[in-house]
Amino acid sequence: MAQVPKALTLVRQRTPKTPGKAASNSPIARVLVDTGVFHLDQEFDFLVPEELSEIAKPGVSVRVPFNGRKCEGYIVGRANSSAHIGRMQFLDKVNNETPVLTSNILNLSRTVARKYASNIMDVLRFALPSAVSSVKNVSLSYSEPKPSNNETIKHYPQSYFESLKKGEASHVIWTPLPATEPFQLMAEFCKIRNGNILILVPDSKSVDRCLQVFLASGIGKNICTWSSELTKSQRYANYLEILNGKVQVVIGVRGAVFLPIQSLSLIIVWDEGNDNYSEIRSPGWHTREVAIERTKQEGCSLLLGSFSPSLIATKYLLAGLLKPLNPLRETFKEYSPKFIGITEINSPDQRGRISTKAWKTIRRGLQTGPVLVQVPLRGYIRSLICQKCANHARCQCGGNLVIGSVNKNIVCGLCGIFQSDWQCTFCAGRAFRHSGIGDERTVEEIGKAFPGTPIRNSNQGSMILDEIEETCIVLATPGSEPRAKKGYAAIVFLDSRIPLERSSINAEEQARLNWFSVSALAAKNAEVFLDVVVSDPNFQALLRWDPWYAANRDLLERISLNLPPHFKAVSVIGPHSDVHNMALEFSGKYLVSSLQSTDDIFLSKIILRGTDHQAQELVEDLLNYCRIRSAHGLTALKVRVDPIEL
Ligand SMILES: [Zn+2]
Ligand SMILES: [Zn+2]
Repeated sequence: MAQVPKALTLVRQRTPKTPGKAASNSPIARVLVDTGVFHLDQEFDFLVPEELSEIAKPGVSVRVPFNGRKCEGYIVGRANSSAHIGRMQFLDKVNNETPVLTSNILNLSRTVARKYASNIMDVLRFALPSAVSSVKNVSLSYSEPKPSNNETIKHYPQSYFESLKKGEASHVIWTPLPATEPFQLMAEFCKIRNGNILILVPDSKSVDRCLQVFLASGIGKNICTWSSELTKSQRYANYLEILNGKVQVVIGVRGAVFLPIQSLSLIIVWDEGNDNYSEIRSPGWHTREVAIERTKQEGCSLLLGSFSPSLIATKYLLAGLLKPLNPLRETFKEYSPKFIGITEINSPDQRGRISTKAWKTIRRGLQTGPVLVQVPLRGYIRSLICQKCANHARCQCGGNLVIGSVNKNIVCGLCGIFQSDWQCTFCAGRAFRHSGIGDERTVEEIGKAFPGTPIRNSNQGSMILDEIEETCIVLATPGSEPRAKKGYAAIVFLDSRIPLERSSINAEEQARLNWFSVSALAAKNAEVFLDVVVSDPNFQALLRWDPWYAANRDLLERISLNLPPHFKAVSVIGPHSDVHNMALEFSGKYLVSSLQSTDDIFLSKIILRGTDHQAQELVEDLLNYCRIRSAHGLTALKVRVDPIEL
């Protein structure tokens, strides 16, 4: 590959000096300017006018003249002298007197920008709150401290709790017992550990639940939350409260990893493999990875938790970067549900979408408590296929034909056009059968089979948030399963092949995570039916309640295929010729995929892969490449480090 030259810097133009007097003390302000230009993300020096000197503190947001425009930025330091040659310009204005950018968060954002081949301003956008004009008082949540709950902690090695108590820094991955509430154990961690704690959970409903559990457990610390449920003004108020050091525990969703908690002592990332932790917007950072960087920088402890570890966490464990925190194997056995799978695919009691085995599991469960049935698809009939040739029934626009639950008409799922006389485009047949059956249709089917039993439906559109107490059937789509107060008496997973057949590279990992997490909602020793064959390695992992077994197996497979997380992968999207040229340039050193098409006909995508040893270099080379393009005024390429889709 050609030598990548050093990134270019714009030569500053001289402008007439603004009238005014520079501050007598530290007259120079180092400013991180939001230039909007990818390669211009270094700090620039400005003169501080005497009248702003007192409030122009490091961390405040300012406005500066830049290249004939006004730009926003943050002061990152004050100095007596500058290496800048030529006449220096004055700061225009201090936007807000509160220093919101702490040095820890600045350093963290720099590291994250480097790790994701990005510009620091693009990371700071996630780290800093937008200021609001009026801030209301925040009421922090607090409940009186209660003593440690020995019932909850007795199953885990006591050495870990002692190390927590001593304030030692450790990096640990924890797999909780099924049929227990993981947030209860997290509450115990918070009681034992001194210092401030950051709790990261995958969604806002988990934030609420975690807060309730913490208050009931009596952790005796000031708690504040951080989620999309908060208004802009509430977020800002919470941010200031955290800055002021009044908050001891923060419970938040992915972006909370950047909150400026001082003297941070422990970060817990619960459900570390959850896809919600992967930021969709550029530069596409992952909460777990940012948390790891933060623990390294601030010397605090890390606790990753999950019912089924991600492949990346498994890789870290095997490399000795994480230590396991597990209950004893026998205890897992004692708490784990009893799994039932398909033993003979053609036997009459195991055929069909809802097999006799599934019906029987529901029936037995209902004798003692609530039963959860999980269906991957939402809606009524989500796809139709030709009865004769199995061709997918599609509209002229390319959308799938679906049947809605209200009037049972066949319509296009994309454009909504009514299709009264569908005909197969391949064999001209007119008969079709249902292939993708959603939760609404399943509610009907199960309702007919269990007249008199209440059925509750929970999906992303209308989610049941309270705990289930009464005996009923709960029909839920993945991610919207409510908890049952005493655990479910039985759980049935239908259409389990659907999550496995998703096109994403981590489909199997995500499916397994869902199966383990949802099965953990079952009561101790309850029955769980999964419609996969018992020889399936994921089923075997569930049967032994050994998520590590399946993760290790997947990881070995990835190694043999040169796939992430064993290999570092980066996806690049841009105009065809640009991506093509880039592929040529990088192909000598790294594995480069062929050009792939994207949703946009003008853009192509390539995947670059490098070995573990090359990982850092690959990202650095990419960053330099993008900076040079930016300096030459070329179209920005869309770079994503560790993409979910390959
Ligand atoms: Zn259509
Ligand atoms: Zn056909």
